[in-house]
Amino acid sequence: MDIVTVTRFRRARSRADLALMPGEAYIAGGTWLMSEPQPETTGFVDLTTMGWPSIEPTADGLRIGATCTIADLVAWAASDAVPDGWAATALISPAANALLASFKIWNTATVGGNICQSFAAAGLMSFAVALDGMALIWTPDGGERTVPVAELMTGNGANALARGEVLRAIDLPDHALRSRARLRKIALAELGRSGAVVTGRIDPDGSATFAVTAATWRPTVLTFDSLPDAATLAAAIGDAPGYYTDPLGAADWRRGVSIVLGERIREELAS
Ligand SMILES: Cc1cc2nc3c(=O)[nH]c(=O)nc-3n(C[C@H](O)[C@H](O)[C@H](O)COP(=O)(O)OP(=O)(O)OC[C@H]3O[C@@H](n4cnc5c(N)ncnc54)[C@H](O)[C@@H]3O)c2cc1C
Repeated sequence: MDIVTVTRFRRARSRADLALMPGEAYIAGGTWLMSEPQPETTGFVDLTTMGWPSIEPTADGLRIGATCTIADLVAWAASDAVPDGWAATALISPAANALLASFKIWNTATVGGNICQSFAAAGLMSFAVALDGMALIWTPDGGERTVPVAELMTGNGANALARGEVLRAIDLPDHALRSRARLRKIALAELGRSGAVVTGRIDPDGSATFAVTAATWRPTVLTFDSLPDAATLAAAIGDAPGYYTDPLGAADWRRGVSIVLGERIREELAS
């Protein structure tokens, strides 16, 4: 749609260009920003011209640039470029497909935009939380800070980024990338926005991590020394805070299906 309040558009090419003027907002893929009126916004600062690499294997794991498109991430995960042993990259396709997104959105929407929009049903949030993702944030004073992606989101559509802070990248650790991992999603409509997404993984050291997203206001991460039994996992998921009701599902339904999805993942990981 036409965003009639916007009269300025700047392409950021350096860190100095990221300083926001009054009324300006960052734009990445623009798929959310251009989908509804932005009455407070009078200018966009384009992040896609910063030239950040989309995918960078590092000494500690994988860095995904915030401006990497969802389509590019999915294509990389299906390519020969994935290092041997990074089995958990198999989560990328189901996480991207957990997004209610048309072909056009996938090719334009960015990983960083999906996380910074911070909807409970953010599929790439589910992916990053599942694998202990750390958000690298550039601060307006020229510094940087890191925060677990699971703690970045503070509510459905809200996050802990201060004005002028930019999500630069998501870092995923090697041990999580080497895990056996699963993702299950459910929605009231077959291709609808996620009502609940549950992920689970077993690391090479035998420890297990489960996460509930979409069903709760903010991600819930549950860690265990080893794969829990069914009752332990069901109780942990059932006790998670923040199950909510909206037109996409009632709170008690979200809690119930999260327990079922968690148990399906647990059984698969046990086999
Ligand atoms: C038809 C349709 C279906 C959708 N389905 C879903 C869905 O199922 N789940 C879901 O979560 N979303 C959904 N969305 C919303 C949105 O399209 C996605 O979240 C998308 O991934 C946003 O990415 P983007 O790059 O287009 O972000 P943009 O629209 O460019 O930006 C979104 C927000 O994030 C901020 N931002 C972007 N990048 C950064 C950064 N690096 N640092 C700091 N701030 C940043 C922007 O300022 C803006 O506030 C849907 C949208 C449409 C139109």
